[in-house]
Amino acid sequence: MNQYYPFVNTPLPYNYDAMKPFIDAKTMILHHDRHLQTYIDNLNNILKDYPILQKYSLEELLYNVDSLPSNIQIPILNNAGGVFNHRFYFDGLSRSKTKIPSGRLLNAINQGFGSLDKFIEQFQKAALSVFGSGYAWLVVNEDGKLVIVTTPNQNCPLSDGYCPVLNIDVWEHAYYLKHYNKRIDYINDWFHIINWKMAEANYNMCKQVY
Ligand code: MN
Repeated sequence: MNQYYPFVNTPLPYNYDAMKPFIDAKTMILHHDRHLQTYIDNLNNILKDYPILQKYSLEELLYNVDSLPSNIQIPILNNAGGVFNHRFYFDGLSRSKTKIPSGRLLNAINQGFGSLDKFIEQFQKAALSVFGSGYAWLVVNEDGKLVIVTTPNQNCPLSDGYCPVLNIDVWEHAYYLKHYNKRIDYINDWFHIINWKMAEANYNMCKQVY
């Protein structure tokens, strides 16, 4: 994955129509080729005047956003966040037959939320509760516990000390063409195409750090 300046829009790890019937090809094309591309272009534009910051990875920019020059903190948060959050979202989708988590992640979900069904219910509520544009995330917190958080706009949980496991983009551009204003239908469709293998790998990596 392209982690350093100049950032390029790496292709999706699947075809644009791979998530049909849950997400349509046109939404995927616009979402990846236009929305994500814009964040990448904006981020490169900001960084072109800051050679030192060009050596920072996407994650390092987001971890250290508070120590960046004050005039670029918000633009970096918005655009490095926009790149990280979207890549994380697209990588987190899969048409694999694996519809539920397993291993340590499943154990942690059962422990943290009571059961997989209760987790799904809470995550659905969180994703619905995002007012306006943002994301819902499953993250590992600094105590090593799995928790659900939401972020507004393109804010990234990395900047808040969380280690991300899974996310859903609930900006309207992620679903409006197919699901219109019915965010709940999009969220329920998304549960069919979660890349649990990726989420498990993320969780295991998070647990090495926290
Ligand atoms: Mn988006």
